[in-house]
Amino acid sequence: MPPRLFRRGPVVIFIFGTSAFGGAAYRFFKPSESLHPHDFTPYTLIDKQRVSSTSAIFTLRHSHNIATSSSLREVWKRSIWSLQIKQPQLQIARAYTPLPPEPHINAEDGEDDQVEDIRLLIRQEQGGEMSTYLHRLPEMSTIELRGPHVECEIPEDVTDVVFLAGGTGIAPAMQVAQVLGRRSGSRMSLLWANRRREECVGGVGDVVSSTTNGAQSRRGWRNLFGLIGQSAVPPPSPTSQSPPPLSNIPTKEKGLIVQELEALQAKAQTSSKANLQVQYFVDEENTFIQPSDVATRLQTSNSTDPSSHRKLIFVSGPEGFIDYWAGKKVWSGGREVQGPLGGALSRMDIAGWKVVKL
Ligand SMILES: Cc1cc2nc3c(=O)[nH]c(=O)nc-3n(C[C@H](O)[C@H](O)[C@H](O)COP(=O)(O)OP(=O)(O)OC[C@H]3O[C@@H](n4cnc5c(N)ncnc54)[C@H](O)[C@@H]3O)c2cc1C
Repeated sequence: MPPRLFRRGPVVIFIFGTSAFGGAAYRFFKPSESLHPHDFTPYTLIDKQRVSSTSAIFTLRHSHNIATSSSLREVWKRSIWSLQIKQPQLQIARAYTPLPPEPHINAEDGEDDQVEDIRLLIRQEQGGEMSTYLHRLPEMSTIELRGPHVECEIPEDVTDVVFLAGGTGIAPAMQVAQVLGRRSGSRMSLLWANRRREECVGGVGDVVSSTTNGAQSRRGWRNLFGLIGQSAVPPPSPTSQSPPPLSNIPTKEKGLIVQELEALQAKAQTSSKANLQVQYFVDEENTFIQPSDVATRLQTSNSTDPSSHRKLIFVSGPEGFIDYWAGKKVWSGGREVQGPLGGALSRMDIAGWKVVKL
């Protein structure tokens, strides 16, 4: 059994139908929507932008230019969602989490006839079947998608979120930021941890971490995250150079995801007076999320009603990261469910907050 990198759902294996009925059924039910939850739809890989030595943003466009459906627009407004990609030779599918439309495009509010691209942040895992296949695909290749699959709905009355993200766990965090950015007066604190600075070049953050260097912090979830990280493709030419200075970095020298986070912050602020704070933690710089960092963000929540579920803590990322902060998810009735709260959050005072493991 290969180790699972994410605990957000089972690896899906599907069987191709080869019967005449299968072909007829496909023709009969051929989806006219931009994305279909059960049938795969062809998209074209129109762009691949490198974020780091191991990750890239893939931009996919509907191969027949079908406009984004109104139902998908609704999903964007209130959900964390994923889709599946099919690997045609191996007959496997894997889940990926679309990034919000580029901040200068109001795609989720778009016109009914608007064709919108789907963007995915995909990390190449060493020996990973799907991620290696995708990273090797040239532009203009066809990639088949199905979805949306809603991982979690964010109820209308949720206005306070603390989001702990590890690695590509940033994708659902950006979806939540996009949802809350529509809600006047909402507040979101995002703590994003990476093993390497290359994933978040120029990410300075809005708040100074309570603890950074030191042996104690090294014993945090660094090793847990490191275990996962060992399976990632190593950088092509590792160096012992110091990371870039973290202040006054021009936009063009900032990483793509950092730029998008800053754009999400600006957009939320101007459109609905929502507040998004981002803090970056980098393993190789000995900065690690500490419980005190989380506690500080919980205290700055503006909601005073402890009985409501208006305040959510999300934990998203590699398995070790989720285990460390919130405990393991468990299997029940053939599906993965939240399981009891464990980990560091279970030892903190989080009264009034509900924890969601992604
Ligand atoms: C809801 C959800 C959303 C997700 N969103 C994203 C996203 O936005 N971006 C993203 O990058 N990922 C995302 N993932 C993870 C993604 O679905 C894949 O799991 C990931 O890309 C790895 O798939 P793979 O086929 O490349 O690796 P796999 O082939 O599944 O291998 C995974 C790891 O196991 C190792 N391995 C494989 N076989 C063995 C073996 N026999 N023995 C030992 N080790 C082995 C591989 O070397 C590799 O490191 C998401 C997952 C879920 C559930």
